[in-house]
Amino acid sequence: MSDIIQLLPDHVANQIAAGEVVQRPASVVKELMENAIDAAATHIKLVVKDAGKTLVQVIDDGHGMSATDARLSFERHATSKIKSADDLFSLNTKGFRGEALASIAAIAHVELKTKRSQEELGTQIEIEGSEIKAQEVTVTPKGTAIAVKHLFFNIPARRNFLKSNTVELRHIIDEFHRVALAHPDIAFSMFHNGSETFNLPKSNYRQRVVNIFGVKTNEKLVPVEEETEVLKISGFVGKPEFAKRSKNEQFFFVNNRFIKSPYLNHAINSAFDGLLKDGSHPSYFLNLSVDPKTIDINIHPTKTEIKFDDEHTLYAIVRASVKHSLGQFNIAPVLDFER
Ligand code: ADP
Ligand code: MG
Repeated sequence: MSDIIQLLPDHVANQIAAGEVVQRPASVVKELMENAIDAAATHIKLVVKDAGKTLVQVIDDGHGMSATDARLSFERHATSKIKSADDLFSLNTKGFRGEALASIAAIAHVELKTKRSQEELGTQIEIEGSEIKAQEVTVTPKGTAIAVKHLFFNIPARRNFLKSNTVELRHIIDEFHRVALAHPDIAFSMFHNGSETFNLPKSNYRQRVVNIFGVKTNEKLVPVEEETEVLKISGFVGKPEFAKRSKNEQFFFVNNRFIKSPYLNHAINSAFDGLLKDGSHPSYFLNLSVDPKTIDINIHPTKTEIKFDDEHTLYAIVRASVKHSLGQFNIAPVLDFER
């Protein structure tokens, strides 16, 4: 009997890995925008067509790539962000797995243009289903522009699973909001089918929240600030009377990364105990800064779930500081006067 195990060819391995990283156009938006942030961009432009099904393009003014790095960036496990597993515990970049571009290139048509500031000319690469079709010298501004076209062109089943444009666009906007809220110091813009949907200048955090959710948001924001030995909390919660039926204004970030944590969401909600009408949900925009050594963000490919060393303490501190902020607001003289 002959042996039966064989190594999967790279393009097959990439396609399989892509299933974990890229669920829908919004996943591409997240990965490309995070790469732009890691490249120290000061302005990031997102261009989308047909809710991302035809085009997702991210243009940044970050540090760009050399011609060789541009080629390498599409290889699996190719990253400039960590060198050893130890680096995982002192991370301050969004990416580190080196698989986003490899995954995306395995299931789409990708066009990359990039130039470093010290170079006169940049490089342009076209890649389809993991295969480099062309690389040439090009005139392009400093930074990187990546266009991802025809997502899932070679996986019809995945393509057919995509939802309506309304739903897919909603996911893209959610992702855009998360990234933009985590980085008020960066200017962002977004275009869908040729029209500008967002234009967010560099600003402070309050302004960023207001620019995204509208001027009416300003009056409902209660600041939350707390600093202890283990963490720093900053941001805002919405006053209870502005609580909404939907949960679409609930944002929780850890070290500038949007995180889904039912446990800590519960901590925030419980700080609102007795203050909310049934079926309504508080708005919150909270940032936690913790020592990267005390968290593990490598438990899921999309990095939206993390493990904390000491969840119980965090829970208690988050709950107490939100309660404290709400309490201060309740005894504010303006309200006493109104009663
Ligand atoms: P990761 O972000 O985990 O390192 P990616 O596949 O997203 O993996 O990107 C691979 C590499 O390509 C990055 O480590 C980085 O060096 C380079 N890269 C990707 N996008 C950009 C960009 N917008 N600007 C500069 N370099 C980039
Ligand atoms: Mg990345």
